[in-house]
Amino acid sequence: MKSYKMLIGGAFVAAASGATFETENPFTGAAWATIPRAGKEDVDRAVKAAADAFRAPSWSGISASQRGALIRRFADLLAANADRLAEIETRDNGKLIAEMRGQLRYMPQWYHYFAGLADKVEGRVIPIDKPGVFNFTREEPLGVVAAITPWNSPLMLATWKLAPALAAGNTIVWKPSEYSSASALEFGALFEEAGFPPGVVNILTGFGSEIGEHLVSHPLVDKIAFTGGDRTGQGVYELAARQIKPVTLELGGKSANIVFADAVLDDAVKGVVSGIFAASGQTCIAGSRALVHRSIYPAFIKALVAFAKTAKIGDPADPSTQVGPITTRPQLDKVLSYIEIAKGEGATLALGGRRATDPACGEGWFVEPTIFTDVAPGMRIAQEEVFGPVLAIIPFDSDEEAIEIANGTIYGLAAGVWTQSIARALTMSEKLKAGTVWINTYRAVSYMSPFGGFKRSGIGRESGLSAIREYLQEKSVWIDI
Ligand code: NAD
Repeated sequence: MKSYKMLIGGAFVAAASGATFETENPFTGAAWATIPRAGKEDVDRAVKAAADAFRAPSWSGISASQRGALIRRFADLLAANADRLAEIETRDNGKLIAEMRGQLRYMPQWYHYFAGLADKVEGRVIPIDKPGVFNFTREEPLGVVAAITPWNSPLMLATWKLAPALAAGNTIVWKPSEYSSASALEFGALFEEAGFPPGVVNILTGFGSEIGEHLVSHPLVDKIAFTGGDRTGQGVYELAARQIKPVTLELGGKSANIVFADAVLDDAVKGVVSGIFAASGQTCIAGSRALVHRSIYPAFIKALVAFAKTAKIGDPADPSTQVGPITTRPQLDKVLSYIEIAKGEGATLALGGRRATDPACGEGWFVEPTIFTDVAPGMRIAQEEVFGPVLAIIPFDSDEEAIEIANGTIYGLAAGVWTQSIARALTMSEKLKAGTVWINTYRAVSYMSPFGGFKRSGIGRESGLSAIREYLQEKSVWIDI
């Protein structure tokens, strides 16, 4: 069994207590590596290392262009190691190898983009309406950023934080999910290889329930960048509020794919299927509700079920597999329990609905692609995040009703609109309360475009120009002349 160490102050170390935990392969259920189980003293060590590194001349004393050059060097190493890291992600969290390779090969772009922004952060001169004063602003890094990430897309979600935070001149303590630490530690080795000064990037592995609160409320942590469930996020926000610490929160979703009667049906079917079944529904942006105009409702469901049935389920390491396992055992139980809830609520099961027993799934934690029809907007299956391959289909009669249903949850992360009418597409893009609206496409993201939630889906934006501002603070300087 492979044995990993965590990264603190430029060295790969064990937990101070010597404790470890095992990480499992969701396809086989078997443990394959041991990971250090950090305790509070390790949090203190990592945060101190990051705080020291923030002040050290090797980081605070270098120019923004030099920071950019370091980040670019890391991007090149990442590109050279993309396929190797993709294999580790697949082994550790069961995501499809084809998707992981695509994600890892695209990931260096985030570092190149923010490396390019590093030396374009500028202050302003303010034309104050009083004689004899000169006022200008400086943009300064915040200090130590605690980045906390979930198990789905572990490296990508960390990248959305690390690339802008480092470009802005901060130092990092990254706590990956206890279910996806191995790839994080391999990633950490590349920061060292790129030549980042010791302590600029620290990676603390362990359980959120054991060290999360200590990290968030640590007095030397200046900013929290969190991605995860909305309840955990709320707890993080409450703790941060006690110390008036800035936060970025990327939380859950219950995103709607709205299919109008004038949609290109084939495209909408493919978009809805990939929106919910990609990554077995374990993405924050999963299109877990499909709102379908009543005039095309029966035809759409028939086509959707027929297409979803063709999805190849099985070994995530096989590039032709389209539906992989559920990443964790507790998540498997949660998804299966929501299927029972939906049945109990009176939704009609049109496809799937069970733990998959296909021989290709072996002992793995698989759930069949599942579709419920005749779902009422208020049912729990239409309101709560399942985080699994379970689609709830809701009929609607008018554009206004579609907007009301789409907006009628506590979340506001994303929405999809399928229509050939430009007027309708633009109206929907205005009326939908979601941080991302996709028209005739779904799941598109880029390092150039801001990503984040409305309502309970979060606070702040990742990617794009806005993201670097999350890691800077503006200082106003007055001079009496
Ligand atoms: P989670 O909330 O259980 O865990 C997220 C992280 O928080 C993990 O690293 C965990 O160890 C840590 N944590 C747990 N308790 C903590 C505490 N008390 N204090 C500080 N940290 C703590 O989420 P998960 O199950 O790993 O991930 C799934 C969730 O993430 C879903 O709700 C999904 O929607 C959300 N998500 C959101 C986005 C987005 O960008 N909006 C992206 C991916 C996933």
